[in-house]
Amino acid sequence: MDQSTPLRPDDSSLRATRSERRGALLWTSAQVLLTADDPVDMLSGLFPQIREELDVDTYVNFLVDENQAALRLASCEGIPPDEVAKIQRLDYGQAICGTAAAQRTAIVATDIQRSNDPKVQLVKGYGIRAYACNPLLCGDRLLGTLSFATHTHDSFDDDTLEFFRSISLHVAVAHDRANLIKRLRDADRRKDEFLATLAHELRNPLTSIRASTEVMRLKESADPDLQSARDILYHQVNIVSRLVEDLLDVSRLTLGHIELRMERITIGDVLDQAIGTSRPTLESFGHELFVEPAPDPIYVYADLIRLAQGVTNLLINAAKYTPPGGRIRVGASVEHNSAVIRVIDNGIGISLEMLSRIFDLFRQSDAQPAGGQDGLGIGLTITRRLVQLHGGTIEARSAGQDRGSEFVVTLPLAAAPVQEPRITPAATPVPFRSLRILIIDDNERVAKSLATLTRLHGHEVHVANGGERGIELAREVRPEIILLDIGMPGMDGHQTCCRLRAEPCCSSTTIIALTGWGQDADQERSRSVGFDLHWVKPIDSHFLSMLPGTVR
Ligand code: ADP
Repeated sequence: MDQSTPLRPDDSSLRATRSERRGALLWTSAQVLLTADDPVDMLSGLFPQIREELDVDTYVNFLVDENQAALRLASCEGIPPDEVAKIQRLDYGQAICGTAAAQRTAIVATDIQRSNDPKVQLVKGYGIRAYACNPLLCGDRLLGTLSFATHTHDSFDDDTLEFFRSISLHVAVAHDRANLIKRLRDADRRKDEFLATLAHELRNPLTSIRASTEVMRLKESADPDLQSARDILYHQVNIVSRLVEDLLDVSRLTLGHIELRMERITIGDVLDQAIGTSRPTLESFGHELFVEPAPDPIYVYADLIRLAQGVTNLLINAAKYTPPGGRIRVGASVEHNSAVIRVIDNGIGISLEMLSRIFDLFRQSDAQPAGGQDGLGIGLTITRRLVQLHGGTIEARSAGQDRGSEFVVTLPLAAAPVQEPRITPAATPVPFRSLRILIIDDNERVAKSLATLTRLHGHEVHVANGGERGIELAREVRPEIILLDIGMPGMDGHQTCCRLRAEPCCSSTTIIALTGWGQDADQERSRSVGFDLHWVKPIDSHFLSMLPGTVR
């Protein structure tokens, strides 16, 4: 040190404070950038602090464009607004950033206003005096460039250049992470869309297969082989239909397309419905079911059908994953001011490793269920999502292999009603009568199988394979009920329904939409064009008992 220079005790402490401040700024930047969904926004949000600390007034962030052919401007500050439009795209090798990108090395340009280097002429024109550009690299992948610049001095000190390098590294990792998340989300969305389309496309053929198997069941046959083949077909088609429904539900739930019809119900209602639906499965495995109802009604605010669907999944799993002749208990109670439903079995149990992932989509354990594997590993995902939509939680417990399983659903309690609901007398059954039914569906197989089934149930059936023909036939036969497919080429079901409603022959006809689309918006659309009912395919023989005017 030059002895003649007076000692300035402040210098080292100033530097210490400066490096502490910069360290803290780098730390904050890393935290902000590495958790950001959009690093471009975050960088522009961070720049005011960098500007103040590093004494720079300009930054420019280029990213490699989608087809990797050039750089495109992601964000910048300090560049004259009319110049920004001109640098939206930069070729590799062009100016400082294009050169840093092409060579994948940092470039620091100093004394720019006195420089004749062709690379710096672009920024020289903006009045910039020093410019430091770092390539954004992740491994050997180039993601873009990040530059800082100043209009007020001709160079940067080493500490400042080191800071630029560090922050560029953070920005590169942040962009890489954001790209990865975007790709994962896109892939996930495409998977959801694919599943929804697949399930939807399977509904039409299923409708006709299901109706045809019903027809076969209704036709007496003395041949035992034929009878057994028919029963197998009937059983299997029901399994496929359930899988398709589950697939549709899981995609609707993940896309947030399920609307709940909330009302005050009791847990007893939920258990009754779930037990009713799962009883055939429980019985087919020869299990004993013990129901432990709560002494008093437990009220929850819920969608009865959806909540019962969740509990049904648990009961069917208990049946599937318990060797035949097992014991299954289902109970309701109030615990810690919440409604609790428990489904307990003495079956194959769940390993510790599986317990932590059991609610994940498509997750199945290696242990084979008693009746063979016929699920896709989505039932529990649906159940958990449904429970969550009701503000509740679900937990799986097991002491391990062959030690049985317990599923505990906890739901918020609803207040009990002020008055007990009035008991309404049971409706008097309407006697069966044959109806005049017109089926309009462009899919000949679906139309034919539905027609055969409907005829076998004693109704007079007419079929048209398009909207125009349907209207002509309606004028001729004056149907009491029309089953009308929505997705038809040319005049679709909505247009056909509007036209039918204008015909005097159909003024009091019940028109029922048949469709693969069952969301609230679809139902609303059906109502608005004049449909009385909206039925989602595949429909089975139950639809016959739902026809207005029939009770079988
Ligand atoms: P699926 O039953 O169609 O495979 P789920 O999502 O309903 O799909 O269940 C996921 C997995 O969780 C099952 O494959 C099974 O390994 C395990 N599991 C679910 N319920 C039980 C149970 N009661 N006992 C043992 N294992 C179960």
